[in-house]
Amino acid sequence: MANIQNVSIVIPVYNEEENLPRLFDEIARVMRPLARTWEVVFVDDGSTDKSLAVLKGLAEANAEVRYLAFTRNRGQSAAFCAGFDEAFHPIVVTLDADLQNDPADIPAMLALFDLGVDMAIGWRRKRQDTLSKRYASKIANAIRNRITRESVRDTGCSLKVMRRDMLVRIPRFKGMHRYLPTLMKLEGATVAEMPVNHRERHMGLSKYGNWERAVAGVRDLLGVRWLQDRHFGYEIREKNR
Ligand code: UDP
Ligand code: MG
Repeated sequence: MANIQNVSIVIPVYNEEENLPRLFDEIARVMRPLARTWEVVFVDDGSTDKSLAVLKGLAEANAEVRYLAFTRNRGQSAAFCAGFDEAFHPIVVTLDADLQNDPADIPAMLALFDLGVDMAIGWRRKRQDTLSKRYASKIANAIRNRITRESVRDTGCSLKVMRRDMLVRIPRFKGMHRYLPTLMKLEGATVAEMPVNHRERHMGLSKYGNWERAVAGVRDLLGVRWLQDRHFGYEIREKNR
């Protein structure tokens, strides 16, 4: 079995004030029994509600909580990347702040990762979103897989476990969080998927509409295909020092 490594949980936060205390509570309940050191790195993506004040309160009360805050909203991909850079530990777990992902899935995801893959990704088998969002996702996943020559069931699920050393090497751009499996594979990563729980959003609002996501999606998709086609992919055979 692989070494038990420590874990940084990276969470993008944009106007999620009502969700944060319960989210940390659920994470702590799941992580405390594990034989790992862990931290949560909350990245406040320019929230205009009281999210940052709530994060400060959580950090004061809990040594596992770290936060950083952007001066203004730069998007979910930017928030993830800032968190990857700040993370102390070799394993990065990502999830959303809105309680739609279930922290109770983290131990099984870590167990899958420990089998020796570089990336474990969640697949929201029973999505608790509107019909239009589920439908749009289905189409988006199919087109994405076709163009990138992949077979990823659900790249939109934020619940993922990844090697930090690989994450800090992949290309970065707005929207890249939807292509993490593909970008990690360019770095040589092995990827495994597993079904995870998905819950309704009860508090706060979804930050995305289907239309804007579709338009950005096409542009990013062509960019990712270009990155794949132009990727170096060299491996070093030997070097002297
Ligand atoms: N988010 C962010 N910056 C943004 C938009 C979203 O940090 O500009 C965060 C948001 O707070 C949540 C996650 O990204 O933690 C996913 O957003 P959301 O739940 O709105 O997406 P959906 O589940 O509707 O696809
Ligand atoms: Mg959500």
